[in-house]
Amino acid sequence: MRDLLSMTIPEMQEFMTSIGEKTFRAKQIYEWLHKKGAVSFDEMTNLSKGLREKLAAEAQLRSVSVRAMQESKIDGTRKYLFRLYDGNNVESVWMKYHHGNTICISSQVGCRMGCSFCASTIGGLTRNLSAGEMLSQIYAISRDTGERTSNVVIMGTGEPLDNYEQVVRFLHMISDENGLNISERNLTLSTCGLVPGIRRLAEEKLMINLALSLHAPNDALRREIMPVANSFALRDIREALLYYYRSNHRRLTFEYALIRDVNDTDRCVEELAAFVKGMNCLINLIPVNPVRENGYHETERAGIAAFKKNLEKYGINVTIRREMGRDIDGACGQLRKRCTELDNKL
Ligand code: SAH
Repeated sequence: MRDLLSMTIPEMQEFMTSIGEKTFRAKQIYEWLHKKGAVSFDEMTNLSKGLREKLAAEAQLRSVSVRAMQESKIDGTRKYLFRLYDGNNVESVWMKYHHGNTICISSQVGCRMGCSFCASTIGGLTRNLSAGEMLSQIYAISRDTGERTSNVVIMGTGEPLDNYEQVVRFLHMISDENGLNISERNLTLSTCGLVPGIRRLAEEKLMINLALSLHAPNDALRREIMPVANSFALRDIREALLYYYRSNHRRLTFEYALIRDVNDTDRCVEELAAFVKGMNCLINLIPVNPVRENGYHETERAGIAAFKKNLEKYGINVTIRREMGRDIDGACGQLRKRCTELDNKL
């Protein structure tokens, strides 16, 4: 069975030819899937019944379906748990901002990066998501909320650069004028720092934003909390980021989750300032979301404010991440994890 939702228009044209259909059908089907959010062949009313049956016999629509949804009473943020066609689950988050709605999608089922503070990686990696499954998270949320999406961040479960081909395919399809047509400038990919992936992404010449999950300003500390630091040194990551920056001149973002007494010292401020020196960047401070399994605590409010102020003395742009949906299951991966635990009990 072919995965129709992950096909580009040229691929779909080829597919049409292979099943003895006219190529113009490809664009019609593409629009049903990617503009009108169709989840079944029956909805495609400008196709004959015969063609719809043929499609159903040859291809699958591996759309996601809503399994659970939690809405924050504080800010309206919604967290979705989706079921995939093979029974696996992934999470996505919908956030309402004044400047438009942002969706945070997952790129893998689980993750194999092993960051010690992250709930998504506890069960390891199950599998990569297809481009269609990433798109489908957005379509399902648009259907449920009835609202437009202006920004997409690949910051849910998974390491996007560990699923390179499908993620790049997704980026092309989400910005395609025959689909949602979201500007590349409104797309952000967040990585824990896979150097070859960052360099390869630079070669794609996309205008998308890149965020690096830094979380520690030196290799020794970073190795303690992020196993990926054993494979890539900060010096090489920095070089790769500068290489990426030269490809599209988009301001880089560094994510830094503040963990009490681990990475929130004055020394960390100094090292962090030295690391980003001369870069066009923003440091996004995040109070670490406590995960039951790891015993980390977030830096208290005053400590975060002081960390920010000290960084700003170096002329660095710093924001403190608005905590969206704190009341709905905290850190990424927790909703999925809870549901998996529930499944296992049943
Ligand atoms: N693998 C990619 C994208 C997914 S993680 C990456 O590492 O960037 C998305 C972001 O959430 C990353 O910055 C990650 O470090 C952060 N994160 C994970 N667990 C967290 C927690 N408990 N508290 C705060 N941020 C967390």
